[in-house]
Amino acid sequence: MTQAIPDDLWRDFPRTATEFEARFATEEDCRAYWMAARWGGEPACARCNSTRVWTIREGTTFECADCGHQTSLTSGTLLEKTRKPLKMWFRAIFEISTRRTGISAKDLQRIMGFGSYKTAWSWLHKLRAAMVRSDSEPLGPFVQMDEALVGGKGGPNKELVLVAAEANGRVRLAHAESNDEGTLKRFADGQIAAKAQVVTDGHAGYNSESLGKRTHEAIVQTKAERRENDAVQSCHWTISLLKRWLIGTHAGAVRPKHLQAYLDEFAFRHNRRKTIGVSRIAARVIESLVAKPPRTMRQIIDATTRCRWFASTHVAPA
Ligand SMILES: [Zn+2]
Repeated sequence: MTQAIPDDLWRDFPRTATEFEARFATEEDCRAYWMAARWGGEPACARCNSTRVWTIREGTTFECADCGHQTSLTSGTLLEKTRKPLKMWFRAIFEISTRRTGISAKDLQRIMGFGSYKTAWSWLHKLRAAMVRSDSEPLGPFVQMDEALVGGKGGPNKELVLVAAEANGRVRLAHAESNDEGTLKRFADGQIAAKAQVVTDGHAGYNSESLGKRTHEAIVQTKAERRENDAVQSCHWTISLLKRWLIGTHAGAVRPKHLQAYLDEFAFRHNRRKTIGVSRIAARVIESLVAKPPRTMRQIIDATTRCRWFASTHVAPA
């Protein structure tokens, strides 16, 4: 059982590099923050929940005075079994949080001084899994839907992405195999409020089968009309930002297998673009790292493979 996490822990997270260096100068600084996030500052035994514990193994582990169980700082969290100091993880978290558009594995490798690209890549995947929280509130009340092909240039070879966007609001993105009625229905049912009003282009897959009882307006526009007043403007903006982000931050080097993880990160940042600062993102990543159970890289990747929204019918590729 974890204790309540202080709501305002994020306020204590530095916003600039100078503040960061000062606040998290030592491993102990990072451990103290980690313990505040995980146990409200008072570590408890993972087996019996007793808080009568003492520190062993240079502060990385607690032994319970009541039952003798040993609880490491990271056991039972997403960082379980990490061999790297928390200070390095905090640094990486700071780096991904301070950049409005995120960071590539290559840049992270350089900043952290990792010997291999693969290490940087797997750290990013882990942090991405922590950052992206399922955001279950469905979109509404006015939602546009569209599809786009993204990729090429060394990355995914034109992969299909379904887009749902509130006017100037939140977006959801799904890497899909098809834009047929059934697929669109699963996407809409998972992401769009049942009473939403939906606007689409004239694609035949958007119909009463796929959209159910939602009010639906299909607007067929010429190029000139679209320039004047684009009916699915929010979708088109999202798609163009997404494409720029995939090329700009990730050099187009996203493999189809991982595209959904990137779409999730994009949507997470996009949906919080007006409200969230460095400290909030970074603090949220840490809260999430302590709160989520350990997962292997394989599990992290499988969880974001294509058609995650459609888990009921989708068989993950081997
Ligand atoms: Zn115990």
